[in-house]
Amino acid sequence: MQPRDLSDHVAYEAGRGIEEVARELGRDPSEFVKLASNENPLGPSPAAAEAIREAASNVSSYPKSAHTDLTDAVADRWGVSPAQVWLANGGDGALDYLSRAMLEPGDDVLVPTPGFAYYGMSARFHHGDVREYALDREDEFTQTADTVLSEYEGERIVYLTSPHNPSGSTIELAEIERLADETDAETLVVVDEAYGEFAETDSALSLVEGRNGFDARDDIAVLRTFSKVYGLAGLRLGYAVVPAAWADAYARVNTPFAASELACRAGLAALEDGDHVERTVETVRKSRAAMREEIDAHVWESAGNFVLVDVGDATAVADAMQERGVIVRDCTSFGLPECIRITCGTEAETERAIETLSDVLATLDYEPEPEPEPEPESESESESKSESESEPEVADT
Ligand SMILES: *Cc1c(COP(=O)(O)O)cnc(C)c1O
Repeated sequence: MQPRDLSDHVAYEAGRGIEEVARELGRDPSEFVKLASNENPLGPSPAAAEAIREAASNVSSYPKSAHTDLTDAVADRWGVSPAQVWLANGGDGALDYLSRAMLEPGDDVLVPTPGFAYYGMSARFHHGDVREYALDREDEFTQTADTVLSEYEGERIVYLTSPHNPSGSTIELAEIERLADETDAETLVVVDEAYGEFAETDSALSLVEGRNGFDARDDIAVLRTFSKVYGLAGLRLGYAVVPAAWADAYARVNTPFAASELACRAGLAALEDGDHVERTVETVRKSRAAMREEIDAHVWESAGNFVLVDVGDATAVADAMQERGVIVRDCTSFGLPECIRITCGTEAETERAIETLSDVLATLDYEPEPEPEPEPESESESESKSESESEPEVADT
């Protein structure tokens, strides 16, 4: 026998880890730094690590009160009711719950390209189809209601990523409101704020709850994760905050015990560790500024914990940097074969990344294109389509 027809599905390949790269190159793991998966350079909150050790002896029990406690704490943090908080196994798990709650077989979702591959993967798992809207690199990956509406055809879910991965661009709340106004009443706009803590902008939760001058509405949901600013990527913990009007659907779509005892206890401790969040955000801001200032190539302005850099030949540059011990993200699989994405590291890691990149660019005789670029060539739609069909997309967190 065979599984159902999965030919439309694509594999999820994570960014390469230090162990894996070191083994392949026959080198010592300590020679490497990994700035490829937007992980927290400071590690987890020490309080969260301690909570995991303390909870270790309780893992023979199902995580019932831990789940309730964390849900309450997250609800408190955002000023919403606990029912609106859909805890999940990572932000990815929360995307699955939204797919399950919204999609009938054959329903479409609309996703950004370049963008986070799991939106489309989740839709396909739930028997939905995927359409794309383009964010234009020649236009700084600007996000407005119109960039989305120009492709919108009544899809059931529309995905926004703010700050956007891999470019770092954001979308204003007023634009999200206009988008939600101009799409059908039955279209859900999901605002993925996986990197929200690193941005100066407000959460789109203001639109859901009707705060800061906006009217409350029932067609926007917000996604958050503990993987980035809280440094808990290895635990798999994230959540959606959804409108109260249909929040009770969670009970009918979630996996029993959606987040583990360890994840919930660590999440609770991390939420309370404001110092760790503050230090992380400060570290990221410095790193981001240093990379924009010191890298001699185009670095897009980013509100996330990473920057996108135009290096000419991403694969050659990423390979050469890796050879020199710095693992960055080759964005070829995002459809950006001239770009790498570098995660913001500690001061030492950032300096090393900048120096290594400058070294590599000099060796490869790279000359940054003058800005603004002379002849912006826009990829035709058929071209980008055939590319995504022939090469599996790679999703990286
Ligand atoms: C990292 C990331 C997520 C969530 O990742 P999880 O580890 O599953 O919580 C969601 N969206 C984007 C754009 C991301 O980069």
